[in-house]
Amino acid sequence: MEFSYLNDKDLLYFSKHILLPTIGIEGQQKLNTSEVSIFGLGGLGNLLSTYIASSGIKKINIIDFDKVEETNLQRQINFSNSDIGIFKVDAIENFLNNKFTSLQIKKYNKKIETKNDVMSIVSNSDIVLDGTDNFQVRKIINKACVEKNKKLIIGAVEGYTGQLMTMVSSESPCYECIYEDLIDSNSCSDNGVLAPLVGMISSMMALECINMLTGNNSSFDKKLLVVNGLNFAVDSINTKQNKSCKICNN
Ligand SMILES: [Zn+2]
Repeated sequence: MEFSYLNDKDLLYFSKHILLPTIGIEGQQKLNTSEVSIFGLGGLGNLLSTYIASSGIKKINIIDFDKVEETNLQRQINFSNSDIGIFKVDAIENFLNNKFTSLQIKKYNKKIETKNDVMSIVSNSDIVLDGTDNFQVRKIINKACVEKNKKLIIGAVEGYTGQLMTMVSSESPCYECIYEDLIDSNSCSDNGVLAPLVGMISSMMALECINMLTGNNSSFDKKLLVVNGLNFAVDSINTKQNKSCKICNN
């Protein structure tokens, strides 16, 4: 196999990954050539984008319509005071390009309202990461991923609770299977958020993404992980497809 695009600098930079038996040179090459989309550049998208870039994934699509606000800084740790008032896609692009080299970032400064807003982005992705804070948007991204048979990792943090689930294949339950009845249009951003818990869930999303791209199994297929940030209680709830799901079973 040809590894020519991992140059000497890459081999040094990623040496601690390459030493891992589950990654090695072949896995690092897969990371370097993968394309990942990150929907939502709030607390989850901030740290997630950093670990995705630091893992060697070069093609990163970032999607958000919002501007940085002062109340974001507590948990959206890539942003500084000087970023307040600028679009999050611009702030994250600047942050990542200052920290990492050779990234191919595509930024989409848009509000997601219909499936057409996400189809082309999802189509080009090896893995889709959903860190949005709105149930309707999550359902749109979920529907597009089901239609395009794309792997989808969904994280959420609200109050003291963090959640994580992954849709690995057409056999996996989709977001709609689990949250069919959820039609609340309120955003999680209306509620309190324990900041380090956001870091914990985003790190787990990045781990899941790296493990899957390097040929390892998902840790959360057919499972919903629920973490309590107050007492560290962790529940791994078995899930299954809803046979009457209007998204993945029609
Ligand atoms: Zn479903």
